[in-house]
Amino acid sequence: MLYFDYNATTPIDPAVREAMRPFLDQEFGNPSSFYRLGRRATETLTEARESVAQLLHATPREIIFTSCATESITTAFLSALEAAPEKRHLITSTVEHSATLELCQYYESCGYEVTYLPVDREGNLSLEQLENSITPSTALISLLWANNETGVIFPVEKIAAIAAEKNIPLHLDAVQAVGKIPIDLQSIPVSYLSLSGHKIYAPKGVGSLYVNRHVSYTPLLRGSQEGTRRAGTENVASITGFGHAAMMAKEKLSSEQQRLTTLRDYFEKMLMRSLQGVHLNGEKASRLPNTSSLTFDKIEATAALFLLDEKKLFCSAGSACNTQSRTPSHVLSAMGCTLEEARSTLRFSFGRFTTEIEIKESIKIISSVVQKLRSLA
Ligand SMILES: *Cc1c(COP(=O)(O)O)cnc(C)c1O
Repeated sequence: MLYFDYNATTPIDPAVREAMRPFLDQEFGNPSSFYRLGRRATETLTEARESVAQLLHATPREIIFTSCATESITTAFLSALEAAPEKRHLITSTVEHSATLELCQYYESCGYEVTYLPVDREGNLSLEQLENSITPSTALISLLWANNETGVIFPVEKIAAIAAEKNIPLHLDAVQAVGKIPIDLQSIPVSYLSLSGHKIYAPKGVGSLYVNRHVSYTPLLRGSQEGTRRAGTENVASITGFGHAAMMAKEKLSSEQQRLTTLRDYFEKMLMRSLQGVHLNGEKASRLPNTSSLTFDKIEATAALFLLDEKKLFCSAGSACNTQSRTPSHVLSAMGCTLEEARSTLRFSFGRFTTEIEIKESIKIISSVVQKLRSLA
């Protein structure tokens, strides 16, 4: 199997699974219980919180565990909006993950005004437009750190400076950035930041929300757990896995960043060498080390996915969510791609278990599939 869809989800790292195992077996205690089985569960939550905090250069009490990044994003919005009920304007971008976009649409239906900042052909945001869109009524700016479809990285340092200067809460969706590029919340101050376990080799169904200790917070689920900030008996095993994954991400960050950049550059260069009419989306932008969004002239991406699937090569057309609905990617559309270009685009995203041999093998398979589809057209 050639798995090139790490941005959709990652496999669980075997070391993460090992760290979780005791909490799926004998250490099944409820962290709220007094006896030592419960205390052991509390300890592992503390360790996990420290690991996630260290990865972000945050403090442990700024980390809240959630069920997924979607929940984290939703809670960040709720917190910012409840803190300033008179403010009825939100700023986001046209290329956000659907978790953010659909939440913004919901708030629009509640009477909020939402500015969707456009991007240019490379997927870059205009900081001037961001600044100009801020009004006295702006309650929150919510933007991606890095895009899940193209890997394009937003200039978060400058975004954070603008938000701080105008005193507007900033939420960043760092789901794709974390573990791939450094995140230092000491040097880039934000109000809220969302992470997901299953994008960093932990299981699905766990995430976290960073809440800067100086900003206000409103729980989505009310009750005693997580210091009354997120109720529901803690998902002890998954949180343990998430903490272990965060620790591993920190350890491997710089070596993986280099290794994946080399593999990705080779992949792109060789595909462009062996095939005509291949275009790299976000080519001139600053990008994540692991993501290649490539448009192949004169092919249907969905047909390519089918043939690649037969060769056990798994990648995606746009985002995982778009593949089923067959609507062209909103990200590529926002970047000015035509419908045809968007429908001819494949996303390859690599990760910890991607090897050079796999990359070489995939170049042959992709080239032959594209040639086959073009010859049929
Ligand atoms: C996967 C993803 C999410 C959603 O994460 P879940 O934990 O699955 O809710 C949000 N934003 C980005 C950029 C993502 O890639």
